[in-house]
Parts: sequence; C-alpha cells; structure tokens
Amino acid sequence: MTWSNSGPTPAGSNGPRSLSSLMPYLYLIPFAASFVACYLVGGALARLRREAGEEIAAVAGGLALAFGAVLAMGLCVPLEGLVAKEARAVLLGASLVFLACLSEDVGQPRWWLRLGALLLASAGVCLSGVRFEVVKKPLLPHQFAHLGPWAYPITVLWLLGVSYVVASTDYMPGLTAGIGTLTALTFFIVTLWKGEGGTLGACLAAVTCGSSAAFLRYGLASRPLALGRSGGAFLGFLLAVITVVGTLKKTAFLVLILPLLALGVPLVNVTYAHRHRRPTPAGKGPRPGAPSAPGLYLYDMLLQRGFTPQRTVLLLLALHAYFCLVALALVGIVTVHFAVKLLLLLFLLPAGGLAFFLISRIAARVAEELEASRTIELLGVKVNAVTMDTTVAQVEEFIAAGTPHHLVTADVSTLMKARQDAELRDIINRADLVTPDGAGVLWTAKVFDWPLKERVPGVDLVDRLCALAAARGYRVYLLGAAPGVAEKAAAILQTRHPGLVIAGTRDGYFRPGEEEGVVAAVRAARPDLLFVALGVPKQEKWIRRHLRELGVPVCIGVGGSFDVISGRLSRAPQWMQTYGLEWLWRVLLEPRRLPRLWALPRFVLAVVGYCLRQWWTQRR
Ligand code: UDP
Repeated sequence: MTWSNSGPTPAGSNGPRSLSSLMPYLYLIPFAASFVACYLVGGALARLRREAGEEIAAVAGGLALAFGAVLAMGLCVPLEGLVAKEARAVLLGASLVFLACLSEDVGQPRWWLRLGALLLASAGVCLSGVRFEVVKKPLLPHQFAHLGPWAYPITVLWLLGVSYVVASTDYMPGLTAGIGTLTALTFFIVTLWKGEGGTLGACLAAVTCGSSAAFLRYGLASRPLALGRSGGAFLGFLLAVITVVGTLKKTAFLVLILPLLALGVPLVNVTYAHRHRRPTPAGKGPRPGAPSAPGLYLYDMLLQRGFTPQRTVLLLLALHAYFCLVALALVGIVTVHFAVKLLLLLFLLPAGGLAFFLISRIAARVAEELEASRTIELLGVKVNAVTMDTTVAQVEEFIAAGTPHHLVTADVSTLMKARQDAELRDIINRADLVTPDGAGVLWTAKVFDWPLKERVPGVDLVDRLCALAAARGYRVYLLGAAPGVAEKAAAILQTRHPGLVIAGTRDGYFRPGEEEGVVAAVRAARPDLLFVALGVPKQEKWIRRHLRELGVPVCIGVGGSFDVISGRLSRAPQWMQTYGLEWLWRVLLEPRRLPRLWALPRFVLAVVGYCLRQWWTQRR
C-alpha cells in the first residue's frame, strides 16, 4: 500500500484505501489516546517543574506532546494499514527530529544538528513512499504530470519548509499548539470528507490534533510549559507529513493552496520576520517566552500594540481558524471551475487580512485609551493608577509575556528626585509600571481628584509577589542591601511562603568593575522576578542600564525593603502605616535620613505651584 500522490485511484484498484470502508469513529481512539497521554504527562511535568527547575520546564511541553503522539500512533498499529513502512518511517523520522532537537534544548543550540535530523527524517519518509509523485495539470481535466526523480527533492524541500514554518512559532507554545490543533483538524476533515490520505493520513491528523489540543491547557496557561525546539520541530514535522499525505491531488489548485491556507498564521509570521530581516527570537534560549526583539513577529507586533499575551494568541488563532475555514470552503467547491475558486480566494484572503488588521488596530486604540485613563502625571512624572491586586495581575502578565519589564515604586522622595534628575525622570516615564508608594502621592491624587485608589509600597509588593511566586513556581532573585541582609530576607520569605524558589541573592555593595559579573550571575540564575534594593535613583538606573541584558521578565527597585523584611529595621506600627507616617518612623530609626524630610515641604510647594500654574493657564 502506498500513500504517495500517484494520481487519482480508480475504484477497486490497489491504490490508497478508501475511508468510506472504515468506520470514521475508529479515529476517536488515536485522538483520545494522544489527548489523554499528552494531558497526563503535561500535568505531571507541570507539577514537577517546581522541584526540577527550569531545565525540565524548558522541554516539558515537547516531551508531553511527543509522548502523546508516539504512544497513540503505536496504538494505531492494529488498525489496518498502519503496519505499513510509511507509518514506521513517519514515527521514526518524527522521533529522530525530536531527539536531535531535545539535545539542543538542553545543551548548546546547533542549527546543523536540527537541519541534519530534519533532512534525514524527510528523506526516510520520502523513500518509504510518502511523496508528491504527480501534479495535476491546471485547467486540463484528468491530465497529470509525473514528477519522476524530481519527486524526491521536491518532497524533502516541502517537508523541511513546512517543519521550519511551524517551528517558527515555538516561542509561544499556546499559539503553536492551537495552530497544530486547527491544521490537523482541517486535514482530518478533508481526509474523511474526500477519502484522500487513507488510514495513515487520518490517523496522523487525529493523533496530532489530539496531542496539540491537550497541550493547549499548558500552552495557554499564565505560565506556559515551553515546547522548546524539540516540541516545535516535532509538531512541525508531523504537520508537514500530513500536508503531503492529506492534500487533495485531484485538483491542481488545491495541491498548494490547501496546505498554504491551513498553515496561514505561521506562514504570515515567517514572511513578516523575513521582511524585517532580523534574528529570530526563538532559539536564543529555551525558556518559554525568552526575551525577544520587539516588533519582529506577529506576536511581538500585537504585544507592542498593547495586547495581553492571552488576547494576542486568541486573535492569532482566530485568524488561523479563518484561514482553515477558507481552505475547507475551497475543498467543498472542488469541482467548481478553477477561475471561480481563484476569484473566491482573491476575495476571502484580503477580507480576512483586512478584518485582522482592523481588529488589531481598534483593539490597540482601546488598550491605549484604557492605559491613558489608568495613568496620571504627577509633577511631570508618570504614575499608574493601580492597586496591589492589579499590580500583581499585571506582573503575572509580564512574566507570561517573558520579555523584560521594569517596575518602579514611586514615593514623594522619588518624585522629587525625578524632578531634578532628568535621567531618572525619563527612566520612570519609560517604565512599564509605576506604582504609587507613599501617603504623599495618594494625598496629592486626592487633592486633584485623580484616580489613585491605594498605596502599593515596595515592601508589601515584595511580600505579595513572593506569595504569587510560591503559588506559581516563579523564581525570585534578591539583589541589594548590606552583605547577609538579602540572604536573611530570602530565608524569612521562604518561611512565610513555603515552596518559594529563590534563584539567588547578592549584596548591593559591589564595585563598578564587578557589575558585569553581577549581571551575568543574575542572568545565569534565570529568575522570573528580580528585586533590586540599591536605593533611589541607583536601583532605577542600574535596572534600566541592564534590563535587556538581564533578560528577567520583571525587575523592580524596592529600596530598603530587604532591611525591613530581614528584621534589620523594624516596620512602622500599624497606626503609623494607616495614617501615612511610615516616613517619620524611618527617620526615627535612621536619623541620617533627616535631610530627606526636606523633600516633603518642597513637594507641597511644587504641588501648590502646579495648581497655581493650572489655574493661571485656565484663566487666560
Ligand atoms: N544599598 C546598596 N548598595 C548601595 C547603596 C545602598 O545595597 O550602593 C542598599 C542599602 O543597604 C539599603 C537600600 O539600598 O538596603 C537603600 O534603602 P533606602 O531605604 O535608602 O532606599 P530609598 O529610600 O532610597 O528607596
């Protein structure tokens, strides 16, 4: 039995087996098997992540996906036709690609290893019989051109290209899994509907659809399991084989259009990336959502426009679903004249693209307006109208996005320093989130009737974020304060929040020459959250200088928080906190801070001056 596209099969011949003779619901078995296996293994690895650390998390998604698919394909063997050499070649090839890329994920990325494995796997699959052999001559009914020896290089190139295109999305595991699910489902429908692709095509599509759908649960989580190069290349290779096996060969138009449409989003993604000719964000590191150069891919482009990571993935999957529906519509009118199909395609594709860009633009504007309504300007410095809860939620989104973010907690003394220090002012205004820290900031907001609801002080934020980190398995790094203080604070935080993973600690008294080593140590520890306690403005400038290099999703300057948490300095009594007198307590504990109090009357004067200027401008 062969699955190559050796032209249309006359009834009763020995060609590809007609699926009408098989009960379609049998395919629920491979679908369910791969779904359950991937779901269970993914769940176990997600639980293991906390103990095993990021090394496991970096390949967990790929392991779950490959395990589900390979196990289910094994179960398919009793189904008639799957003992065929083609099925064995596909399984072997996909496993080879997975293992070669797995060694890359846990070691140094080596492009030649991945390419070699993909070449070997594609050649094996091609030699086993899965290849394009004939091409229908456009506009000539029942006429086929035989590719002859060209069938081999064309199929191998096709398999390589499609694998690469799908794997290009592996830095956003939820998106890759969604694309895998929708594409495999489309081909599954086509195989059952049109009877092309045989048992192998239907089984492969069912298995791929099952494991990708199960992986959505972990890929779309706020802290996704990474697919890694291995998972991305494995899924890419399976989809590539499905496109060869399941493509309709009876129509020249659909031979190319069907797979191109069914892989719409990754194709647009790759085209977009190449048009901008910059290095790929994927592959720079195995961590999920590793820092990517902004504005590169569709995903980054939408993030830049203010979309949350979850909404970005959903919008891209909606676009992909649209492409798949257009593909199915064309398959439905397969007998209609070539020109009509072309016209329909020429209308539907730009319509989809236009809808996508309109939606993304409108949503970006809404996000911008929302953001503006949540931001106030205090004496020329930006402050976000956030509460403790919304800050924590925002931090979760930043970590899910994976790109570096800078958070500032701004109190009156920070605002006054920023008024005099243009560099600090610029850093704060460019920060991703500025929380109102301190009674003075809230008091001013009240005077102006600005929407600041509550204080988000650094010391409380550290505690809340450590609670979040313990629950989600985020890694935390404490940098700053006198020698021994960060370690002590870390130990106390671990007692308060059992399960909290401390990626590292380091005191804040390093010489400028040691700075590079400190950055390298933090980077190597791969934290999700970095608390920097060097005092204002040193910590803000240090974070901004090294933000990209550090690659940490969330960096926050937290001033004297480690001193308070470690017990080196006691926290103000509750009544002083309630009445906003914490600053007075700090001065009582550390009289050297007395000169800083000068910032308070200067702040009041500045606010009064601001009010007078506003009043004067309005009068004129
Ligand atoms: N610090 C540090 N390295 C420095 C200067 C300061 O680690 O070079 C630490 C210091 O030990 C203290 C914190 O930074 O723990 C500054 O705390 P402070 O309350 O003065 O911060 P601010 O009020 O400026 O935010």
